[in-house]
Amino acid sequence: MNIHEYQGKEILRNYGVAVPNGKVAFSPDEAVKVAKELGSNITVVKAQIHAGGRGKAGGVKVAKNLDEVRAYAKDLLGKILVTQQTGPQGKEVKRLYIEEGCEIKKEYYISFILDRSTSRITVMGSAEGGMEIEEVAEKSPEKIFKEVIDPITGLLPFQARRLAFNMEIPPKLVNQAAKLMIGLYTAFVEKDASILEINPLVLTEDDKIMALDAKFNFDANALYRHPDIVELRDFDEEDPKEIQASKYDLNYVSLDGNIGCLVNGAGLAMATMDTISYYGGSPANFLDVGGGANTEKVTEAFKIILSDPNVKGIFVNIFGGIMKCDVIAEGVVAAAKQIGLNVPLVVRLEGTNSALGKEILNKSGLNIIGTTSMAEGAQKIIELVR
Ligand code: ADP
Ligand code: MG
Repeated sequence: MNIHEYQGKEILRNYGVAVPNGKVAFSPDEAVKVAKELGSNITVVKAQIHAGGRGKAGGVKVAKNLDEVRAYAKDLLGKILVTQQTGPQGKEVKRLYIEEGCEIKKEYYISFILDRSTSRITVMGSAEGGMEIEEVAEKSPEKIFKEVIDPITGLLPFQARRLAFNMEIPPKLVNQAAKLMIGLYTAFVEKDASILEINPLVLTEDDKIMALDAKFNFDANALYRHPDIVELRDFDEEDPKEIQASKYDLNYVSLDGNIGCLVNGAGLAMATMDTISYYGGSPANFLDVGGGANTEKVTEAFKIILSDPNVKGIFVNIFGGIMKCDVIAEGVVAAAKQIGLNVPLVVRLEGTNSALGKEILNKSGLNIIGTTSMAEGAQKIIELVR
């Protein structure tokens, strides 16, 4: 789960991490009110969307007075911001963060992630801050330094200092930086984050080390123990189809193709998408209905697929094991009856109760094209979509 920069900074403040003063605003009036309260010479107006790259896309504006704050706020609110991370469709700006401007002497990069190869939280730092870290990693990987953290001891002060030295933080500020890093680490662990990226971490003209940006991502499997984090969820930033799917515990990811897929099992779902792509088609979604789905869940899954206007055909590919084919068939029929089925539907049912499933589909009166293999089914639906 992602949150906004201003929410991330609020969490960091509670862990003693230095961040500039600031507050969220939902309207130009509010923006001006916050800027007045801050009373700083320079105020930064920052678009709040769940994507980075805002600076380059014009989503971060430096205002020299309250009139400029108002003008930038007016301009940004309601705007579709297209950044390197939003995709070409962009994201609408609905909130702003109004923040004290700071005089930057140097920008650094620092992030915490869970490194799956070592099963440990790893902190990465670089003197090359403020830019695309992916580019640094590709062109000059020697400029990125890592510290692997032992879960028993946590991030040790000497590790934090070593990283600060490697990042070329001035020696007299290394202890300040190390303290900030330990604050970041503690926030990461206590909040069950999966990513915490500060880009840039800055050195200011008055020799302070501060987090100027904050990107948090939280482990969805741990959210049950963080009601405070769950509250920060912004549904405006998420695909409504994915929100609906999460209510029913479906593993659904919306994609940009035109063939809807209803599959059981993540592996089979991946293989189905691969097979569709292999034959020249393009999946509209990843969907694993899981092993224990009931008719209601399958009905909901099918409805979500049907609600996607990009879907021009559907491929149901089920290998019944724990999941029974008749349950799938009933869900498909129920959903099709509720909202109507006006796109071609290819169904492959194999395994537990497949004969019963096929009978239910045959008797339903729906126009269903049956198939016995995944490859054949993929080719059929691609043909029909064309
Ligand atoms: P993004 O990563 O989405 O582009 P950032 O929060 O990193 O957004 O901001 C982009 C750039 O804008 C920063 O690298 C920094 O140079 C500048 N900036 C952001 N916040 C401030 C601030 N409070 N004061 C001064 N400059 C800022
Ligand atoms: Mg940034």
